Amino acid sequence: MRFDLLIKGGEVVDPGAGYRGKLDVAIKRNRIVAVDADIPAESAFRVVDAGGQYVTPGLVDLHTHVWYGATYWGIHADPVAARTGVTTWLDVGSAGAYNCPGFREFIAGPATSRIYALLNISSIGLTAPTFELSNLDYCDVDLCCRLIDRNRDLVLGVKARIDRNTTRGTGIAPLQRAREAADRCEMPLMVHIGWGPPALADVLRHMRPGDILTHCFTGGDMRIIDRQGRLRDEAKRVWDSGVIMDIGHGAGSFSFDTAEALMNQGYRPDVISSDIHQLSIHGPMFDLPTCLSKFMLLGMSFAEAVHAATARPAQVMGLQDEVGTLKPGALADVALFRIERGAFTFYDIHMNARSGKELVRNTLTIVGGRDLPVTADEPPAPWIELSEDQQALVERGHTPAAQHAKARCGC
Ligand SMILES: [Zn+2]
Repeated sequence: MRFDLLIKGGEVVDPGAGYRGKLDVAIKRNRIVAVDADIPAESAFRVVDAGGQYVTPGLVDLHTHVWYGATYWGIHADPVAARTGVTTWLDVGSAGAYNCPGFREFIAGPATSRIYALLNISSIGLTAPTFELSNLDYCDVDLCCRLIDRNRDLVLGVKARIDRNTTRGTGIAPLQRAREAADRCEMPLMVHIGWGPPALADVLRHMRPGDILTHCFTGGDMRIIDRQGRLRDEAKRVWDSGVIMDIGHGAGSFSFDTAEALMNQGYRPDVISSDIHQLSIHGPMFDLPTCLSKFMLLGMSFAEAVHAATARPAQVMGLQDEVGTLKPGALADVALFRIERGAFTFYDIHMNARSGKELVRNTLTIVGGRDLPVTADEPPAPWIELSEDQQALVERGHTPAAQHAKARCGC
């Protein structure tokens, strides 16, 4: 067989599929057809030289906001995909019932990278920054299920953000409705936690195996550790039962203190996701490769971090044979990375700093066998103003781009 594309000479890291080492990846049309040592360059129409780079499945980001142009949070997916290696996006709750048809027509349909959604139990989705659950009239279970049934190729579950601001006095009722919708549609439920009320225990009581708890390493008062830093019993119970613990770093939801407390006890997140949006994209979250770098400084290997951002989220989405894997037959979504060595500074959302020796940097993103073109970064939405902390990151040269440039020149 003559291949369309051969990615040659790289170090393949695909723990989900069990590939590791100097291997070449062959692509025909939009599928991976072979992963093997020393596939001849002559066998392919086009060859990508991956020498000195890591070759992984395209990253699968389980917590994103990509409903650009119609919601407060949404960013454009493809330009970020091209510079981060994210080839599959799960938009979690930007769309509710009223803007789900538009999400398909204007966002998921035209995009080159793959976009799926969890439907917000609030029919207005995330049009505004918060308060989407403060009017229970918007939490219409019948309507939510009707839209899910019409969009089962696009919508993979239900989303509810449960915290003090989103609910604003409606308490646990929106979560009960989200639970009912997920049960009726037989789909997973993703619940976001942060600052209560409600209390963590009241939220966890509504979660079932296969559901996703996002912002699982939050430093907010709904955090899953107690004052002594131990994993709370009720959190351990749901985690053991099969609830997925997902990072969802974002602009308010990742604490090094929480992460270190849990990882020192041997707990590791199931999924590393970005919660990328109009605020978090300007740091200290920045992008998914930067999140992977943070978990490497916390003790995970690159392979473990890749697994938590490829095979594991793909499995949570029920797409494990299609994406997040280099197994022959899967969609030809591939990411190339370099790992820069040096001294790098990373921050959590409280601006607590840690230093790391490795910075993961994407060099090429391939979706369905085609390279995504790198384009210029887009300006923030008109309603976004960078915080003092975010400006400080730029001034200190602690953005991924600046740290990478410094490592390259050795200065
Ligand atoms: Zn989010």
